[in-house]
Amino acid sequence: MTITDCCRALEDGRCTSRELTRQFLARIEEKNQTLNAYVTVTADHALEKAQQVDEKRERGEGLSALAGIPMALKDNISTRGIRTTCCSRMLEDYCPVYDADAWSALDQADAVLLGKNNMDEFAMGSSCRDSCFGPTRHPDAPSRVPGGSSGGTAAAVRAGLAVYGLGSDTGGSLRQPAAFCGVVGFKPSYGTVSRYGLVAYASSFDQIGPVTACVADAAQVYDVITQRRSGDAACSGPAQSTVRTLRRSIRGLRIGVDETMLRYADGSVIQAIEKSMRVLREAGAELVPVSLPELSGCLPVYYILACAEASSNLGRYDGLRYGGGSGEAAGYEEAVCRTRSERFGPEVRRRILLGTYVLSAGYGKAYYQRAQQLRRQWCGYFQQVFEQCGALLMPVTPSVAFAQSWRPVDPAGQYRQDIYTVPANIAGLPAISLPCGTGEAGLPAGIQLVAPRFADARLLNAAWCFERIAACGTKGEEADPGGI
Ligand code: GLN
Repeated sequence: MTITDCCRALEDGRCTSRELTRQFLARIEEKNQTLNAYVTVTADHALEKAQQVDEKRERGEGLSALAGIPMALKDNISTRGIRTTCCSRMLEDYCPVYDADAWSALDQADAVLLGKNNMDEFAMGSSCRDSCFGPTRHPDAPSRVPGGSSGGTAAAVRAGLAVYGLGSDTGGSLRQPAAFCGVVGFKPSYGTVSRYGLVAYASSFDQIGPVTACVADAAQVYDVITQRRSGDAACSGPAQSTVRTLRRSIRGLRIGVDETMLRYADGSVIQAIEKSMRVLREAGAELVPVSLPELSGCLPVYYILACAEASSNLGRYDGLRYGGGSGEAAGYEEAVCRTRSERFGPEVRRRILLGTYVLSAGYGKAYYQRAQQLRRQWCGYFQQVFEQCGALLMPVTPSVAFAQSWRPVDPAGQYRQDIYTVPANIAGLPAISLPCGTGEAGLPAGIQLVAPRFADARLLNAAWCFERIAACGTKGEEADPGGI
Protein backbone atom coordinates (compact mmCIF):
# COMPACT_ATOMS: atom_id res chain seq x y z
CA MET A 1 0.00 0.00 0.00
CA THR A 2 1.18 3.50 -0.79
CA ILE A 3 0.64 6.59 1.34
CA THR A 4 -2.02 7.74 -1.14
CA ASP A 5 -3.85 4.37 -0.89
CA CYS A 6 -3.86 4.55 2.91
CA CYS A 7 -4.83 8.20 2.99
CA ARG A 8 -7.82 7.56 0.71
CA ALA A 9 -8.91 4.53 2.73
CA LEU A 10 -8.78 6.56 5.93
CA GLU A 11 -10.51 9.59 4.45
CA ASP A 12 -13.28 7.52 2.85
CA GLY A 13 -13.85 5.79 6.17
CA ARG A 14 -13.04 2.36 4.69
CA CYS A 15 -10.84 1.77 7.71
CA THR A 16 -9.67 3.55 10.82
CA SER A 17 -6.06 4.22 11.68
CA ARG A 18 -6.38 1.75 14.55
CA GLU A 19 -7.51 -1.01 12.18
CA LEU A 20 -4.75 -0.19 9.73
CA THR A 21 -2.14 -0.15 12.51
CA ARG A 22 -3.41 -3.45 13.92
CA GLN A 23 -3.06 -5.04 10.47
CA PHE A 24 0.54 -3.90 10.19
CA LEU A 25 1.33 -5.03 13.72
CA ALA A 26 -0.14 -8.45 12.92
CA ARG A 27 2.05 -8.73 9.82
CA ILE A 28 5.10 -7.75 11.84
CA GLU A 29 4.20 -10.40 14.40
CA GLU A 30 3.91 -12.98 11.62
CA LYS A 31 6.94 -12.10 9.52
CA ASN A 32 9.51 -10.36 11.65
CA GLN A 33 10.84 -13.52 13.19
CA THR A 34 12.23 -14.60 9.82
CA LEU A 35 12.98 -11.16 8.38
CA ASN A 36 14.41 -9.47 11.48
CA ALA A 37 13.59 -6.08 9.99
CA TYR A 38 12.50 -4.59 13.33
CA VAL A 39 14.62 -4.57 16.48
CA THR A 40 12.00 -2.73 18.54
CA VAL A 41 8.25 -2.81 17.96
CA THR A 42 6.33 0.05 19.57
CA ALA A 43 2.86 -1.52 19.43
CA ASP A 44 1.32 0.35 22.39
CA HIS A 45 2.70 3.67 21.28
CA ALA A 46 1.41 3.05 17.73
CA LEU A 47 -2.10 2.08 18.80
CA GLU A 48 -2.37 5.01 21.16
CA LYS A 49 -1.32 7.43 18.43
CA ALA A 50 -3.67 5.79 15.93
CA GLN A 51 -6.52 6.24 18.39
CA GLN A 52 -5.70 9.93 18.81
CA VAL A 53 -5.73 10.40 15.03
CA ASP A 54 -9.06 8.57 14.70
CA GLU A 55 -10.54 10.84 17.34
CA LYS A 56 -9.21 13.94 15.57
CA ARG A 57 -10.77 12.67 12.34
CA GLU A 58 -14.10 12.02 14.05
CA ARG A 59 -14.05 15.57 15.38
CA GLY A 60 -13.52 16.79 11.81
CA GLU A 61 -10.10 18.34 12.49
CA GLY A 62 -7.88 19.11 9.50
CA LEU A 63 -5.30 16.33 9.13
CA SER A 64 -2.05 15.96 7.24
CA ALA A 65 -1.83 13.44 4.37
CA LEU A 66 0.45 11.32 6.58
CA ALA A 67 -1.91 11.28 9.54
CA GLY A 68 -2.68 7.85 10.93
CA ILE A 69 -0.38 6.03 8.49
CA PRO A 70 1.93 3.37 10.00
CA MET A 71 5.65 3.82 9.37
CA ALA A 72 9.08 2.87 10.72
CA LEU A 73 12.41 4.48 11.58
CA LYS A 74 15.96 3.23 11.21
CA ASP A 75 17.39 2.68 14.67
CA ASN A 76 19.91 5.53 14.44
CA ILE A 77 17.14 8.16 14.41
CA SER A 78 16.52 9.39 17.95
CA THR A 79 13.10 8.81 19.45
CA ARG A 80 12.36 10.27 22.87
CA GLY A 81 11.68 7.52 25.38
CA ILE A 82 12.06 4.76 22.77
CA ARG A 83 15.34 2.87 22.72
CA THR A 84 17.68 3.90 19.90
CA THR A 85 20.50 1.39 19.66
CA CYS A 86 22.23 1.91 16.28
CA CYS A 87 22.21 -1.90 16.48
CA SER A 88 25.33 -1.74 18.63
CA ARG A 89 25.97 -3.35 22.00
CA MET A 90 27.35 0.06 22.93
CA LEU A 91 23.86 1.60 22.92
CA GLU A 92 21.74 -1.47 23.67
CA ASP A 93 19.91 0.30 26.54
CA TYR A 94 20.11 3.86 25.29
CA CYS A 95 16.88 5.84 25.43
CA PRO A 96 17.19 9.35 23.94
CA VAL A 97 15.73 12.28 25.85
CA TYR A 98 14.81 14.13 22.67
CA ASP A 99 13.41 13.44 19.18
CA ALA A 100 15.32 13.83 15.92
CA ASP A 101 14.02 16.82 13.95
CA ALA A 102 12.94 14.61 11.02
CA TRP A 103 10.94 12.31 13.29
CA SER A 104 9.53 15.22 15.20
CA ALA A 105 8.20 16.71 11.91
CA LEU A 106 6.50 13.39 11.07
CA ASP A 107 5.20 13.00 14.61
CA GLN A 108 3.60 16.42 14.34
CA ALA A 109 2.04 15.35 11.05
CA ASP A 110 0.49 12.48 13.07
CA ALA A 111 2.55 9.63 11.63
CA VAL A 112 2.11 6.33 13.49
CA LEU A 113 5.44 4.82 14.53
CA LEU A 114 5.42 1.00 14.38
CA GLY A 115 9.00 0.56 15.56
CA LYS A 116 12.71 0.82 14.91
CA ASN A 117 14.50 -1.01 12.11
CA ASN A 118 17.58 -3.18 12.02
CA MET A 119 20.74 -1.76 10.43
CA ASP A 120 24.47 -2.28 10.19
CA GLU A 121 26.08 -1.16 13.44
CA PHE A 122 26.36 2.65 13.50
CA ALA A 123 25.34 2.64 9.79
CA MET A 124 28.67 1.19 8.71
CA GLY A 125 28.04 -1.48 6.13
CA SER A 126 26.13 -2.55 3.05
CA SER A 127 24.50 -5.82 4.08
CA CYS A 128 22.55 -5.44 7.33
CA ARG A 129 24.60 -8.41 8.58
CA ASP A 130 26.75 -6.29 10.90
CA SER A 131 24.09 -5.73 13.53
CA CYS A 132 24.26 -6.85 17.17
CA PHE A 133 20.70 -8.16 16.67
CA GLY A 134 21.68 -10.51 13.84
CA PRO A 135 21.09 -10.08 10.11
CA THR A 136 17.97 -8.88 8.32
CA ARG A 137 16.88 -11.23 5.51
CA HIS A 138 15.90 -10.20 2.00
CA PRO A 139 12.07 -10.38 1.86
CA ASP A 140 12.04 -12.10 -1.56
CA ALA A 141 15.04 -14.38 -1.03
CA PRO A 142 16.06 -15.16 2.57
CA SER A 143 19.48 -16.42 1.49
CA ARG A 144 20.33 -12.95 0.17
CA VAL A 145 21.04 -9.70 2.01
CA PRO A 146 18.57 -6.79 1.86
CA GLY A 147 21.50 -4.36 1.56
CA GLY A 148 22.53 -1.81 4.12
CA SER A 149 22.87 0.00 6.22
CA SER A 150 19.15 0.91 6.11
CA GLY A 151 18.38 -2.73 5.21
CA GLY A 152 15.77 -3.23 7.94
CA THR A 153 13.76 -0.27 6.67
CA ALA A 154 13.95 -1.33 3.01
CA ALA A 155 12.97 -4.91 3.91
CA ALA A 156 10.08 -3.67 6.06
CA VAL A 157 8.65 -1.51 3.26
CA ARG A 158 9.12 -4.27 0.68
CA ALA A 159 7.45 -6.89 2.87
CA GLY A 160 4.51 -4.66 3.78
CA LEU A 161 5.60 -4.27 7.41
CA ALA A 162 5.44 -0.46 7.12
CA VAL A 163 3.95 1.89 4.55
CA TYR A 164 7.18 3.87 4.49
CA GLY A 165 10.24 4.52 6.60
CA LEU A 166 13.08 6.91 7.25
CA GLY A 167 16.66 5.79 6.86
CA SER A 168 20.00 7.54 6.56
CA ASP A 169 22.50 7.75 3.74
CA THR A 170 26.17 8.53 4.35
CA GLY A 171 27.57 6.57 1.42
CA GLY A 172 24.54 4.88 -0.14
CA SER A 173 22.68 3.44 2.83
CA LEU A 174 19.25 4.47 1.57
CA ARG A 175 19.78 3.82 -2.12
CA GLN A 176 21.61 0.48 -2.09
CA PRO A 177 19.09 -1.40 0.12
CA ALA A 178 16.23 0.23 -1.81
CA ALA A 179 17.72 -1.12 -5.06
CA PHE A 180 18.24 -4.59 -3.56
CA CYS A 181 14.68 -4.71 -2.20
CA GLY A 182 12.83 -3.14 -5.16
CA VAL A 183 11.63 0.00 -3.38
CA VAL A 184 12.38 3.73 -3.70
CA GLY A 185 15.26 5.22 -1.66
CA PHE A 186 15.81 8.97 -1.78
CA LYS A 187 18.90 10.74 -0.45
CA PRO A 188 18.10 14.46 -0.36
CA SER A 189 20.64 17.23 -0.99
CA TYR A 190 22.98 17.63 1.95
CA GLY A 191 21.59 20.42 4.11
CA THR A 192 17.90 20.08 3.26
CA VAL A 193 16.97 17.65 6.05
CA SER A 194 18.12 18.26 9.60
CA ARG A 195 20.62 15.81 11.04
CA TYR A 196 19.66 16.81 14.58
CA GLY A 197 19.00 13.58 16.43
CA LEU A 198 20.52 11.35 13.76
CA VAL A 199 23.30 9.48 15.56
CA ALA A 200 26.40 10.79 13.81
CA TYR A 201 28.55 8.52 11.65
CA ALA A 202 30.30 10.93 9.23
CA SER A 203 28.68 14.32 9.75
CA SER A 204 29.73 15.93 6.46
CA PHE A 205 28.02 13.13 4.51
CA ASP A 206 25.09 11.99 6.72
CA GLN A 207 21.60 12.70 5.45
CA ILE A 208 18.17 11.36 6.45
CA GLY A 209 15.73 10.39 3.71
CA PRO A 210 12.62 8.32 2.95
CA VAL A 211 12.26 4.69 1.84
CA THR A 212 8.92 4.27 0.10
CA ALA A 213 6.90 2.16 -2.31
CA CYS A 214 6.73 4.91 -4.95
CA VAL A 215 8.16 8.31 -5.89
CA ALA A 216 5.04 10.29 -4.94
CA ASP A 217 5.33 8.91 -1.39
CA ALA A 218 9.00 9.91 -1.23
CA ALA A 219 8.13 13.48 -2.26
CA GLN A 220 5.32 13.67 0.25
CA VAL A 221 7.49 12.50 3.16
CA TYR A 222 10.41 14.67 2.08
CA ASP A 223 8.28 17.82 1.97
CA VAL A 224 7.32 17.18 5.60
CA ILE A 225 10.76 16.30 7.01
CA THR A 226 12.47 19.25 5.31
CA GLN A 227 10.21 21.65 7.23
CA ARG A 228 11.87 21.26 10.62
CA ARG A 229 15.51 22.19 10.53
CA SER A 230 16.28 24.46 13.45
CA GLY A 231 18.55 21.91 15.13
CA ASP A 232 21.10 21.62 12.31
CA ALA A 233 23.41 24.51 11.45
CA ALA A 234 24.30 22.85 8.11
CA CYS A 235 20.75 23.45 6.88
CA SER A 236 20.17 26.64 4.99
CA GLY A 237 17.84 28.19 2.44
CA PRO A 238 14.11 27.72 2.23
CA ALA A 239 12.53 24.35 2.98
CA GLN A 240 11.98 22.29 -0.14
CA SER A 241 8.61 21.77 -1.72
CA THR A 242 8.56 19.02 -4.33
CA VAL A 243 5.03 17.65 -4.53
CA ARG A 244 3.77 20.69 -6.45
CA THR A 245 6.09 20.07 -9.40
CA LEU A 246 6.18 16.30 -9.24
CA ARG A 247 3.90 15.62 -12.20
CA ARG A 248 5.38 18.11 -14.67
CA SER A 249 6.46 16.85 -18.05
CA ILE A 250 10.21 16.34 -18.38
CA ARG A 251 10.13 16.96 -22.12
CA GLY A 252 13.48 18.41 -23.10
CA LEU A 253 15.26 17.54 -19.83
CA ARG A 254 18.81 16.48 -20.66
CA ILE A 255 19.91 13.38 -18.77
CA GLY A 256 23.62 12.55 -18.87
CA VAL A 257 24.99 9.01 -19.09
CA ASP A 258 28.67 8.13 -18.81
CA GLU A 259 28.78 4.64 -20.34
CA THR A 260 32.37 4.02 -19.28
CA MET A 261 31.23 3.71 -15.66
CA LEU A 262 29.14 0.66 -16.58
CA ARG A 263 32.26 -1.49 -16.64
CA TYR A 264 31.88 -2.16 -12.91
CA ALA A 265 28.31 -3.40 -13.30
CA ASP A 266 27.15 -6.90 -14.19
CA GLY A 267 24.90 -7.81 -17.15
CA SER A 268 21.56 -7.44 -15.41
CA VAL A 269 22.44 -3.99 -14.06
CA ILE A 270 23.55 -2.86 -17.53
CA GLN A 271 20.25 -4.16 -18.92
CA ALA A 272 18.37 -2.13 -16.32
CA ILE A 273 20.29 1.00 -17.37
CA GLU A 274 19.55 0.36 -21.04
CA LYS A 275 15.88 -0.16 -20.27
CA SER A 276 15.75 3.06 -18.26
CA MET A 277 17.35 5.00 -21.10
CA ARG A 278 14.47 3.89 -23.30
CA VAL A 279 11.92 4.75 -20.60
CA LEU A 280 13.37 8.22 -20.03
CA ARG A 281 13.40 8.90 -23.78
CA GLU A 282 9.77 7.87 -23.91
CA ALA A 283 9.07 10.30 -21.08
CA GLY A 284 10.47 13.05 -23.32
CA ALA A 285 13.96 13.38 -21.86
CA GLU A 286 17.01 13.73 -24.06
CA LEU A 287 19.83 11.30 -23.22
CA VAL A 288 23.25 12.87 -23.68
CA PRO A 289 26.69 11.27 -23.35
CA VAL A 290 28.80 12.85 -20.60
CA SER A 291 32.19 12.09 -19.17
CA LEU A 292 33.26 12.02 -15.53
CA PRO A 293 36.73 11.10 -14.28
CA GLU A 294 37.36 7.49 -13.22
CA LEU A 295 34.66 6.83 -10.61
CA SER A 296 36.74 4.48 -8.49
CA GLY A 297 38.68 7.56 -7.35
CA CYS A 298 35.70 8.38 -5.13
CA LEU A 299 36.11 5.29 -2.98
CA PRO A 300 39.30 6.25 -1.10
CA VAL A 301 38.02 9.82 -0.76
CA TYR A 302 34.86 8.57 0.92
CA TYR A 303 36.43 5.87 3.06
CA ILE A 304 39.25 8.11 4.31
CA LEU A 305 36.97 11.02 5.19
CA ALA A 306 34.08 8.91 6.54
CA CYS A 307 36.42 6.88 8.78
CA ALA A 308 38.17 10.05 9.98
CA GLU A 309 34.85 11.63 10.92
CA ALA A 310 33.63 8.39 12.47
CA SER A 311 36.72 8.07 14.66
CA SER A 312 36.01 11.52 16.03
CA ASN A 313 32.21 11.14 16.31
CA LEU A 314 32.43 7.79 18.05
CA GLY A 315 34.86 9.15 20.63
CA ARG A 316 31.89 9.94 22.89
CA TYR A 317 31.20 6.25 23.52
CA ASP A 318 33.42 5.72 26.52
CA GLY A 319 30.91 4.10 28.86
CA LEU A 320 30.79 7.29 30.93
CA ARG A 321 29.17 9.92 28.74
CA TYR A 322 27.50 7.52 26.32
CA GLY A 323 27.48 3.77 26.06
CA GLY A 324 27.03 0.96 28.53
CA GLY A 325 29.91 0.32 30.91
CA SER A 326 31.97 -2.79 31.29
CA GLY A 327 31.84 -3.78 34.93
CA GLU A 328 34.67 -3.27 37.37
CA ALA A 329 37.88 -1.65 36.11
CA ALA A 330 41.07 -0.51 37.83
CA GLY A 331 40.87 3.03 36.47
CA TYR A 332 39.53 5.37 33.80
CA GLU A 333 41.79 4.14 30.98
CA GLU A 334 40.99 0.51 31.58
CA ALA A 335 37.25 1.23 31.86
CA VAL A 336 37.18 3.11 28.55
CA CYS A 337 39.38 0.59 26.81
CA ARG A 338 37.29 -2.36 27.97
CA THR A 339 34.00 -0.70 27.08
CA ARG A 340 35.15 0.17 23.58
CA SER A 341 36.81 -3.18 22.90
CA GLU A 342 33.87 -5.22 24.18
CA ARG A 343 30.96 -3.20 22.88
CA PHE A 344 31.96 -2.08 19.39
CA GLY A 345 31.70 -4.73 16.67
CA PRO A 346 34.66 -5.57 14.39
CA GLU A 347 33.65 -3.32 11.46
CA VAL A 348 33.18 -0.29 13.72
CA ARG A 349 36.54 -0.95 15.42
CA ARG A 350 38.21 -1.26 12.01
CA ARG A 351 36.86 2.10 10.88
CA ILE A 352 37.82 3.85 14.11
CA LEU A 353 41.35 2.50 13.70
CA LEU A 354 41.50 3.56 10.04
CA GLY A 355 40.12 6.99 10.86
CA THR A 356 42.50 7.55 13.76
CA TYR A 357 45.39 6.52 11.53
CA VAL A 358 44.56 8.91 8.68
CA LEU A 359 44.22 11.79 11.15
CA SER A 360 47.36 11.03 13.13
CA ALA A 361 50.36 13.36 13.18
CA GLY A 362 52.50 12.77 10.12
CA TYR A 363 49.71 11.11 8.12
CA GLY A 364 47.04 13.81 8.27
CA LYS A 365 48.48 15.58 5.29
CA ALA A 366 48.99 12.51 3.13
CA TYR A 367 45.53 11.09 3.73
CA TYR A 368 42.97 13.40 5.32
CA GLN A 369 44.01 16.64 3.66
CA ARG A 370 44.60 14.96 0.30
CA ALA A 371 41.14 13.40 0.48
CA GLN A 372 39.62 16.80 1.27
CA GLN A 373 41.33 18.27 -1.81
CA LEU A 374 40.03 15.46 -3.98
CA ARG A 375 36.56 15.91 -2.53
CA ARG A 376 36.59 19.53 -3.68
CA GLN A 377 37.79 18.42 -7.12
CA TRP A 378 34.92 15.97 -7.40
CA CYS A 379 32.42 18.72 -6.53
CA GLY A 380 33.91 20.64 -9.47
CA TYR A 381 33.63 17.67 -11.83
CA PHE A 382 29.94 17.36 -11.04
CA GLN A 383 29.42 21.08 -11.48
CA GLN A 384 30.95 20.83 -14.96
CA VAL A 385 28.83 17.83 -15.91
CA PHE A 386 25.68 19.62 -14.77
CA GLU A 387 26.45 22.40 -17.23
CA GLN A 388 25.69 19.84 -19.94
CA CYS A 389 22.70 18.08 -18.39
CA GLY A 390 20.03 18.49 -15.72
CA ALA A 391 20.41 15.03 -14.17
CA LEU A 392 22.59 11.94 -14.40
CA LEU A 393 21.53 8.33 -14.89
CA MET A 394 23.74 5.73 -13.14
CA PRO A 395 23.58 2.25 -11.68
CA VAL A 396 23.03 2.07 -7.90
CA THR A 397 25.03 -1.09 -7.33
CA PRO A 398 27.30 -3.30 -9.43
CA SER A 399 24.94 -6.30 -8.94
CA VAL A 400 21.60 -7.37 -7.50
CA ALA A 401 21.39 -8.42 -3.82
CA PHE A 402 24.33 -10.65 -2.91
CA ALA A 403 24.23 -13.86 -0.85
CA GLN A 404 24.24 -13.76 2.97
CA SER A 405 27.21 -16.12 2.74
CA TRP A 406 29.28 -13.86 0.47
CA ARG A 407 32.33 -12.54 2.30
CA PRO A 408 34.94 -10.66 0.29
CA VAL A 409 38.54 -11.73 0.94
CA ASP A 410 39.35 -8.31 2.36
CA PRO A 411 37.02 -5.55 3.68
CA ALA A 412 37.84 -3.35 0.69
CA GLY A 413 35.97 -5.89 -1.46
CA GLN A 414 32.77 -4.81 0.23
CA TYR A 415 33.74 -1.13 0.13
CA ARG A 416 34.13 -1.39 -3.66
CA GLN A 417 30.42 -2.21 -3.95
CA ASP A 418 29.73 1.43 -3.00
CA ILE A 419 31.29 2.80 -6.18
CA TYR A 420 28.04 4.19 -7.61
CA THR A 421 26.57 5.58 -4.40
CA VAL A 422 29.40 7.46 -2.64
CA PRO A 423 29.91 10.12 -5.38
CA ALA A 424 26.58 11.81 -4.55
CA ASN A 425 27.53 11.96 -0.85
CA ILE A 426 30.95 13.39 -1.63
CA ALA A 427 29.36 16.29 -3.51
CA GLY A 428 26.22 16.59 -1.33
CA LEU A 429 23.97 15.88 -4.33
CA PRO A 430 20.39 14.59 -4.24
CA ALA A 431 20.11 11.05 -5.60
CA ILE A 432 17.32 8.52 -5.86
CA SER A 433 17.24 4.79 -6.36
CA LEU A 434 14.30 3.53 -8.42
CA PRO A 435 13.13 -0.03 -9.07
CA CYS A 436 13.65 -1.11 -12.67
CA GLY A 437 12.36 -4.63 -13.22
CA THR A 438 14.31 -7.70 -12.23
CA GLY A 439 17.85 -8.87 -12.79
CA GLU A 440 19.83 -12.01 -11.98
CA ALA A 441 17.82 -14.73 -10.17
CA GLY A 442 14.64 -12.69 -10.59
CA LEU A 443 15.79 -10.25 -7.89
CA PRO A 444 14.92 -6.55 -8.05
CA ALA A 445 17.21 -4.30 -10.11
CA GLY A 446 17.52 -0.57 -9.51
CA ILE A 447 18.73 2.53 -11.29
CA GLN A 448 19.86 5.86 -9.91
CA LEU A 449 19.16 9.45 -10.89
CA VAL A 450 21.41 12.19 -9.53
CA ALA A 451 20.78 15.96 -9.77
CA PRO A 452 22.64 19.15 -8.88
CA ARG A 453 22.63 20.20 -5.23
CA PHE A 454 19.25 21.60 -4.16
CA ALA A 455 17.57 20.45 -7.41
CA ASP A 456 15.62 17.89 -5.34
CA ALA A 457 12.32 18.94 -6.91
CA ARG A 458 13.67 18.38 -10.44
CA LEU A 459 15.09 15.01 -9.41
CA LEU A 460 11.81 13.78 -7.94
CA ASN A 461 9.93 15.11 -10.97
CA ALA A 462 12.18 13.12 -13.35
CA ALA A 463 11.89 10.07 -11.08
CA TRP A 464 8.10 10.30 -11.05
CA CYS A 465 7.98 10.49 -14.87
CA PHE A 466 10.36 7.52 -15.08
CA GLU A 467 8.24 5.48 -12.70
CA ARG A 468 5.03 6.28 -14.56
CA ILE A 469 6.38 4.98 -17.87
CA ALA A 470 8.40 2.11 -16.37
CA ALA A 471 5.24 0.82 -14.70
CA CYS A 472 3.57 0.88 -18.16
CA GLY A 473 1.08 3.49 -17.09
CA THR A 474 -0.31 1.33 -14.30
CA LYS A 475 -0.17 4.33 -12.00
CA GLY A 476 -2.79 5.73 -14.38
CA GLU A 477 -1.55 9.28 -14.00
CA GLU A 478 -0.56 11.58 -16.83
CA ALA A 479 2.32 14.01 -16.64
CA ASP A 480 1.21 17.64 -16.82
CA PRO A 481 1.78 19.15 -20.25
CA GLY A 482 4.42 21.81 -20.77
CA GLY A 483 8.17 21.41 -20.50
CA ILE A 484 10.33 22.50 -17.59
N1 GLN B 1 28.34 1.17 2.57
C1 GLN B 1 28.58 2.45 3.12
C2 GLN B 1 29.50 2.32 4.31
O1 GLN B 1 29.67 1.25 4.74
C3 GLN B 1 27.27 3.06 3.47
C4 GLN B 1 27.18 3.78 4.74
C5 GLN B 1 25.98 4.65 4.89
O2 GLN B 1 25.48 5.22 3.93
N2 GLN B 1 25.55 4.80 6.14
O3 GLN B 1 30.05 3.27 4.80
